[in-house]
Amino acid sequence: MFFFFVNRWQIFKSAPKETHPFWWQIVFGFRIMSDAELAKFSSYIFGQAFTTLKCQASQYLPWMEKRFKSNGGHLECRKVYNVWDLHGTYDVVVNCSALGSRDLFGDQSIYPVKGQVLEVNAPWIKHFIRDGDGNSYIYPGISVVTLGGTRQKDDWSCMPNAQATKDILDRCCHLEPSLSGVSVIQEKVGLRPTRSALRIEKDILIKNGQQLLVIHNYGHGGGGFSIHWGTAKTATKLLQELIPLIHNVSMKSKL
Ligand SMILES: Cc1cc2nc3c(=O)[nH]c(=O)nc-3n(C[C@H](O)[C@H](O)[C@H](O)COP(=O)(O)OP(=O)(O)OC[C@H]3O[C@@H](n4cnc5c(N)ncnc54)[C@H](O)[C@@H]3O)c2cc1C
Repeated sequence: MFFFFVNRWQIFKSAPKETHPFWWQIVFGFRIMSDAELAKFSSYIFGQAFTTLKCQASQYLPWMEKRFKSNGGHLECRKVYNVWDLHGTYDVVVNCSALGSRDLFGDQSIYPVKGQVLEVNAPWIKHFIRDGDGNSYIYPGISVVTLGGTRQKDDWSCMPNAQATKDILDRCCHLEPSLSGVSVIQEKVGLRPTRSALRIEKDILIKNGQQLLVIHNYGHGGGGFSIHWGTAKTATKLLQELIPLIHNVSMKSKL
């Protein structure tokens, strides 16, 4: 079980522009928090309560890999230094290289937003609590609670930072004082592959009279798990549109 329901409080120090975000009918039981609920959070004046799904990525990704392989998919793990090295071996390249697209495709508009989180042992935490500014959050998972976070644009370091750990703990203890003194199991760092807009499109590269068919699917920023199913479906549709072209390209190369 790697998807499960979680109740969430999203709280604001000043009233947000929209009391009801665009996704309010997608989540379950969306409502504005009562004054009694808000009283628990000093310095917060407005809140939204709802139930949504959490994905336990550490379990979901291995499951997806297994599913891919059991459907005939083959995995080969290696760095691609030049996308043209794939020409002749594969009919189409689906580019999900995210930040790697800077070097592979010369896309300088994608950049990292470093994020640090802490995994802590706090089994009594059952509610997902998030400051509306998105910087501080307490996210209960299956076996640990994740405390966040940080957002550092253009920071390529994947090393945890001790000051960030202290800041995250301070902010999360302010949100939920029972976390005071909690034991940190692990500090985790990731780079959100950020772009002003996702890139999901067909691309036909041409070099020395040769064509390389590419589908781009990258730039998921801080929401890749939330939206990956939809972006993968769009990329698949684009791939289906390219299939007639694949035959033309291989016919030509045979003539
Ligand atoms: C702290 C933090 C919290 C987050 N929280 C959430 C959340 O709550 N909800 C949510 O939806 N999302 C969240 N995200 C965002 C989510 O993790 C990303 O959007 C998602 O991982 C992006 O996936 P991706 O496959 O597009 O890119 P990546 O995960 O960056 O994968 C790209 C892959 O391409 C490979 N690659 C690159 N270049 C090459 C090359 N030349 N040759 C071979 N391989 C290459 C890389 O090694 C990597 O494996 C969070 C991210 C962080 C850091």
